[in-house]
Amino acid sequence: MAQNHLRNVAIIAHVDHGKTTLTDQLLYQSGMFRTEDLDKLAGGQHNLIMDTGDLERERGITITAKNCAVNYRHTDGADYKINLIDTPGHADFGGEVERVLNMADGCLLVVDAFEGPMPQTRFVLQKALAIGLKPVVVINKIDKPNARPEDVINEVFDLLAELDAPDDALDFPIVYSSAKNGWASDDLEKAGMNGAEHPDNMLALYSAILEHVPAPYAEGSSRGAAAGFASGVEALAAPLQMMVTTIQYSDYVGRIAVGRVTAGRINAGQQVTVINRAGEGKQQKILKLNAFDGLKQKEVPQVIAGDICAVVGLDPIDIGDTIACPDRPEALPAVEIDEPTLTMT
Ligand code: GDP
Repeated sequence: MAQNHLRNVAIIAHVDHGKTTLTDQLLYQSGMFRTEDLDKLAGGQHNLIMDTGDLERERGITITAKNCAVNYRHTDGADYKINLIDTPGHADFGGEVERVLNMADGCLLVVDAFEGPMPQTRFVLQKALAIGLKPVVVINKIDKPNARPEDVINEVFDLLAELDAPDDALDFPIVYSSAKNGWASDDLEKAGMNGAEHPDNMLALYSAILEHVPAPYAEGSSRGAAAGFASGVEALAAPLQMMVTTIQYSDYVGRIAVGRVTAGRINAGQQVTVINRAGEGKQQKILKLNAFDGLKQKEVPQVIAGDICAVVGLDPIDIGDTIACPDRPEALPAVEIDEPTLTMT
């Protein structure tokens, strides 16, 4: 998958505003599971398929897996891979939110059309803005009888202004959705409020992601500039660097390091130097390399700069370590953590 067909999107939402339901819909309406296939499978009522045991189990994986990838065929026939990055909403002191956001090039800010922005929305949004991510605002639960989308949009605008968002972030794209019913629109009139006819799919949301979240290292992207690359080609040509964002455990293979390849390429079976946070390097061999594929991971021979992957076979390895090429091992800068100030009374 070429870099310009790749999108890394963090999903930011207050608890219960619909992050999980929206993720499910993006997966099930993607090219892998087209709506008509779902219709066929479920005898014409594709909502029903969501209730089968298998999908419920997979949904459980969504919650714990944190990352998933949507393979999506757009209406123009082009294939895209959208890495959806779940962000923890709770206030944490370990910098997890910053590290996770660092894998993304843009974010979906999901807000309940009745409740409006809430504390978790604000907490994570502030951190996303600090690293230059711009939000696509998703006003979800538009089907609720008491939805008040215009007010909620004003509240989102005020919040962004209060957080000193740059002008282009204040001019945010908006998608209105009913994740529960599987539809979305960029037009409030057509969004199905008050019994109006609504669209029957999430096309408007896929389109907004493809259009407004930059591809990794796209020309002029703030994230590319922050990483020191003017283009994806430059990022690919650089020596391998990958920041370990999370560690998963498996009884069979032990520690699995998940993160974004910042520069170069990473290959299954290759020798790498793992540099820990104390700056000490240790040469090790990668046993297996996985990319995200739907709710699962799939073994792949190579992953390129800008994509997110899971690396098997490295130990010792820890969060914040850099996986680098042995010829030119260079640690990535530590993710800056904006620790909340504790007030003593
Ligand atoms: P999360 O905590 O952000 O992951 O939220 P969930 O996706 O688990 O959704 C929380 C609750 O809101 C669930 O009961 C969903 O069925 C419901 N929900 C999600 N999206 C919608 C929507 O578009 N409309 C309505 N009415 N309910 C929704």
